[in-house]
Formats: sequence, structure tokens, C-alpha cells
Amino acid sequence: MREPILSHVVSEIRNLIEDAKQIIIVPHLNPDGDAIGSTMGLYNYLSAFKNVCLIAPNAFPHNLQWMDGADKVLFMPDHEAEIKEKFNCVDLIFCLDFSSIGRMDVLKNFVLESTAKKVVIDHHPEPEAFSDYLLSDTTVSSTCELVFEFLSVLDPSRITKKVADCLFTGILTDTGSFNHNSSNPRTYQVVGELLAFGADKEMVTRNTFDNYSANRMRLMGYVLNEKLQILPDQKTAYAWLTKEELERYNYQTGDSEGFVNMALSIKGIVFSAYFMETEDRIRISFRSKGTFDVNKLARKYFNGGGHTNAAGGRTTMTLHETLDKFRSVLPEFQDELMLSL
Ligand code: 5GP
Ligand code: MN
Repeated sequence: MREPILSHVVSEIRNLIEDAKQIIIVPHLNPDGDAIGSTMGLYNYLSAFKNVCLIAPNAFPHNLQWMDGADKVLFMPDHEAEIKEKFNCVDLIFCLDFSSIGRMDVLKNFVLESTAKKVVIDHHPEPEAFSDYLLSDTTVSSTCELVFEFLSVLDPSRITKKVADCLFTGILTDTGSFNHNSSNPRTYQVVGELLAFGADKEMVTRNTFDNYSANRMRLMGYVLNEKLQILPDQKTAYAWLTKEELERYNYQTGDSEGFVNMALSIKGIVFSAYFMETEDRIRISFRSKGTFDVNKLARKYFNGGGHTNAAGGRTTMTLHETLDKFRSVLPEFQDELMLSL
């Protein structure tokens, strides 16, 4: 049961909300459907009666900009001056879908140096202690599910269709459309309640998944056909894209979302990794099936983290060196890979 865990702090947070003149909501760097759904859901909920500003470390991907209020988000570096101003007068900060300080990236100092009260709502393991209130539950499907539980205790009468649409999105994306991370019956009860609050399942699915460019489809085809490496003895698959390849397909933020999952549908593959070269770093996504813990591997070797079956990381080495490192650490995990599934 989650409600008793939440209820003893919700009344204190309710008071903070009531007293706050300026509230800021922050998602993590490279926000996914859950980070955006939870922050936009809370934004739509609170902005009906409070001054709220959503501030992100970088821009939202195109396929998630359909959410109400997404055009009002202030993101770095484009809105830096306005962001500084907002942090100067904030009383209450919500950090959603992360509990590791590094995930705030360029917003880290703004948040940590602020004297505002801080509330973290998140579902990642091993949360770091930087907030006044931590609503953390690793058994939920998504931060959106936990935000729904929070709002249901706070005041369910303020949950609108707009809020429900946003929260439904994060549950949908973090569970891979209910394919993983969604064995808890409570997740479906929450989904049922969101539908009752007016969430439009067809609209959310269409806008989130059927909203990509043709270039993205071609890039996906290229990755699958020419870049996917299979290591059957390690039950592992991996792929990478260089800056030049991304430019060739006119890459837009979010275009490679989901690429890392594809190799897991190959029989016998339990671990998939995807490497992407960006301006200043190599971004890495890890996914697994069964017991193989990608969070552990990401934390130990790739400056990252996440969940058992979904994690991310980064390096400042070259792509070539990063791939070498990846291949060289795999033998350490041989037994765990063999035992997974
Ligand atoms: P993705 O591969 O979709 O970027 O991330 C998968 C999961 O790992 C998400 O839950 C995300 O929050 C987490 N994650 C991604 N990158 C990092 C990172 O650099 N540090 C930590 N702690 N978590 C990450
Ligand atoms: Mn999440």
C-alpha cells in the first residue's frame, strides 16, 4: 500500500504549496515520456491555482510537445536569463523522475543553492539526499503513477483531463505500452482511474508514438540493418551512431528513443546497449530482460544509473574508446548474463 507512506508528508507539502508564491518543477536531462508526463501533469494541476514554472535542463523531444503547456517550458540554454530570475524568487521546487543530483545537469547549482523547499518524487533506486521531502517508491511503474498517488491524496478534485492525459503518458512510455515494469495490479487501477478522469488513451498513443518523422524511420532501418552487433555468447546486442550518421538522417532530439529496446525482441538476447555520439559526450542507453542489472553496470563503468532493466550513462571518451570499454567489461558480467531469463 502506498497511501500511508505518502499521507504523513502530503499535508506538510500541501501547506508549502498553499504558502508558495512561486513554484518551479524540474525534470531530468534528456527527459523521456515519464519525466515529461509527470512534470507536465503536476504543472497542469498546480498552475490552475498557483504561479508555476517548468524549467528543464534541455529541450523536450518533438513527439512529446503536444502536452498542454509544453510551449511554456523554460529550458537551458535558450532561456537562461529568465531561468535565473525564476530561481531568484522561488519558494518551492519539485524535482520529478530523478533522485540523482547529476541528472539536473546545468540546473544542478540553481536547485542546490536555492533556499526554497525541495520535494523529489521518483521511482529510481538508491535516491540521493538533497531534498526536504522524498517521495520515492521503486515498486511503481513510473513517476507518473506516483504523482497520481500524490495528487489523489493532495486533492483529487483538482485532477483534470489535461492532468490525466499527461500522467497516463508516462505510465504508457515507462512500461513500454504495458510490456514491462507493469506487473503490479495497482498500476492498472491507477490507469483505470486516469481514464475515469478523462485521459484519452487513443489521443495519447497517437501523439506519442505516431508522431515521428520519416527520417527517424529511415535511421531506425539503418541501425537495424547496418549497425546492430550481436554477441550470442554474451546474450548481448549493441549498436552505435556517430555524429556524422545522425546528421545524415537529420537527427532531431528524441528520434532515437526506443532504438535500444528493439534488439531485446531477438530470441536469446537479454542485454542491449545503444551508443550515441553528441557534441560533448557519448550518451548510452542500456536495457535488459530478466535479472541482469544494467543499473549496476551503468553506475560502475559509465557514470550513469537507472533501474534494473533500464539505465543510461555517458562518457567523455571517444566513441571508439567507449565501445572498446563496453566490450572489455562484458566478460565480468558473463555469469549474470547467462543466468538472466
Ligand atoms: P534512457 O536510456 O531512456 O535515457 O534512460 C533509461 C533510464 O535510466 C531512465 O530511468 C533514466 O532516468 C535513467 N538514466 C539515464 N541516464 C542516466 C544517467 O546518466 N544517470 C542516472 N542515474 N540515470 C540515468
Ligand atoms: Mn521514469
